[in-house]
Amino acid sequence: MYGCIFVFYLQYHLVYLSRRSIMKKIKTKLTKRSLYSVIITSLAIIISITSISISYCYNRKDNDALTTDSINDNSDNPKVYNHLQNELGKHVHVGVSALGRNYTDDALVVAQKLNASDCANNGHKVVYLTFDDGVSTTSTRKVLDILRNYDVHATFFVTGVSLIEGGDRAASLLKQAFNDGHAIGNHSYSHNYKYLFPNRVLNLDNFVADYKENDKLLSKILGPSFVTRVIRCPGGRMSWQGIEALDNYTKENHIAAVDWNALNGDAEGNTKNAQELYNFAVATSQGKELVVLLMHDDYGKQATVDALPKIIEYFKSNGYDFRTLS
Ligand SMILES: [Zn+2]
Repeated sequence: MYGCIFVFYLQYHLVYLSRRSIMKKIKTKLTKRSLYSVIITSLAIIISITSISISYCYNRKDNDALTTDSINDNSDNPKVYNHLQNELGKHVHVGVSALGRNYTDDALVVAQKLNASDCANNGHKVVYLTFDDGVSTTSTRKVLDILRNYDVHATFFVTGVSLIEGGDRAASLLKQAFNDGHAIGNHSYSHNYKYLFPNRVLNLDNFVADYKENDKLLSKILGPSFVTRVIRCPGGRMSWQGIEALDNYTKENHIAAVDWNALNGDAEGNTKNAQELYNFAVATSQGKELVVLLMHDDYGKQATVDALPKIIEYFKSNGYDFRTLS
């Protein structure tokens, strides 16, 4: 803008100087021919400068538009999923396999709804089955079989320690989950509350380092083209202090930190049997069109495995779609 004003200011001076020069020459009684020559030269210079200035202003406007688009391209934009995939290349899997893309939704949108305690979904009932703390070589294998039998898909929030503990068998189950079309989320490497949240306050440096370590392990097993942008905090995002720093970090990095709004209670209070887990899941889902159901598939979760078929049947018979988070 200032450039344009400067260029027009220059043109004004040129016209002024040309006029002065013409008048001077008339006064000195120069020939008509030399007068025309001065006028034509001045006009040529003015036309050239005008073209350059218009071209400059036009290009400047284009650059301004580009900058504005980049600033607005934040994590609130629902197009960010495609944007991220384009950025990383079409061979990169963002949390799901090519098959899994058929069953998945934008985790950022779901996370925002959960954080706002918004369980409505425009009349469309949807349930996100989620399993934390795996992969285990016992529960996860059985959970995968049940999901396949019912032809429904889920999201697995995997820890690094579980993958290390389970060795090759756990790695092979993680690959099976991914290839079956389930979504894979990061649930930290260590799952260590004292390291991640000392004195119940988030330590962002420890948190980021721990999650990156788990990302590396997931890519090592699922291939270098695998990345996930979906995380879940051990104990849940809602449980800790100082979480604003995490919210800023996730927003800057297009990461969705997804909690839950229903649970089967397999990690809370007294040990429950399958019927009690089913009752808990149904009770905490009541009146919600959008349900993110927390369950666990680590070792010792046989009751969760036993309750799962009835839980799936409940949501099916109540008209819910089964979707995943990526
Ligand atoms: Zn956990």
